[in-house]
Amino acid sequence: MSATYAGLSRVGMAMWRRAAPYCNLAVWSGSVVASASAVGEGAGGGYAVEEDIAAAGATTWEPLLAAAAGCAEGGVHFHAYPDEGFSDPRAAVAAVRVAAEEAGALFRWGTAVESVLVEDGRAAGVRIVDAGGSGCELRADVVALVAGTGLASASLGAVVPMRDSPGVLAHTADLPDGAVRMGPIFVDALSGVHCLQHPNGRCAIGGDLRGSPLGDGGEATPCTDVHTGDAGQGLQRRAANWLPHIGQLALSGTTHTQRVLPEDGFPAVGWSGTSLYVCAAHSGFTLAPVLSALAAAEIVEGVEVELLDEGWRPTRFCMQSPA
Ligand SMILES: Cc1cc2nc3c(=O)[nH]c(=O)nc-3n(C[C@H](O)[C@H](O)[C@H](O)COP(=O)(O)OP(=O)(O)OC[C@H]3O[C@@H](n4cnc5c(N)ncnc54)[C@H](O)[C@@H]3O)c2cc1C
Repeated sequence: MSATYAGLSRVGMAMWRRAAPYCNLAVWSGSVVASASAVGEGAGGGYAVEEDIAAAGATTWEPLLAAAAGCAEGGVHFHAYPDEGFSDPRAAVAAVRVAAEEAGALFRWGTAVESVLVEDGRAAGVRIVDAGGSGCELRADVVALVAGTGLASASLGAVVPMRDSPGVLAHTADLPDGAVRMGPIFVDALSGVHCLQHPNGRCAIGGDLRGSPLGDGGEATPCTDVHTGDAGQGLQRRAANWLPHIGQLALSGTTHTQRVLPEDGFPAVGWSGTSLYVCAAHSGFTLAPVLSALAAAEIVEGVEVELLDEGWRPTRFCMQSPA
């Protein structure tokens, strides 16, 4: 992980703690990582780390980590990241939406951008189409495309080629007050599963992440449950090996998704053409406050943010395109 990437992650975390509208949305739980490495780096994204805390340290962080004690002789190392936290993505999106509307943004729900209008070599707006198939043109001084993996689609000009990087998330139902809850995020880097529990008791269990050069699951073992063929149940079993209470929870759904991972693994932030700005990054949740602030400075103030010049400009992909 580059120093710039780690640095921006730290700034992103600081903004989640202190800057509106993000502050007060996160639970600052810390995390515990089980790893084959005695060195606690990479997964922490440059955050503070308590390295090799042994099974006793892991169970001090999370008493429910029943299996940790059995790993003492097994070549498993535990690291704690005190600064980590998590947030409910729906609450976070709702807060950002309200702030954007207060600042004058207008959302057109249920509408897709069909294409970017190009006039005299510059982006002049977009053509949008609603669910009923009705379309219209919106003209603009600047077009900012923040469409995740959609940035690779031909209709949006294939401005950022994306890596195939699937991930699976299993979700459990809410729990009544008083039910057993874990505290920190737990990551098993050996089998490739991570889990956290929201204050309402709902667990999010993730895994089967592949394709990232950033050290979080390079060649993960597919998590499909050998008995049922269900990926969510497979993840739940993996998590329950460490945290038995998770095995007792009812699964409410499984999400199969793709990560926003530009082809070379690094963010793509900046001007892609005249009046056309793009922003795409893995760890986009952590980085959202800082990348959006830097992008706004470049779009609105017309400055060039040197921090983003570490080979992250989207023009690197334009230059590879056939003329
Ligand atoms: C399993 C998993 C776990 C993750 N864990 C973390 C984590 O712990 N921490 C972290 O920081 N990040 C994490 N991420 C990554 C993070 O979710 C992404 O980096 C982030 O969502 C990227 O934000 P974005 O707005 O660029 O793209 P997206 O969140 O993908 O949003 C893009 C939106 O654009 C819409 N869109 C696409 N094409 C069009 C079109 N033509 N017209 C209109 N709308 C369009 C899409 O429907 C989508 O709603 C994880 C991702 C996955 C898949």
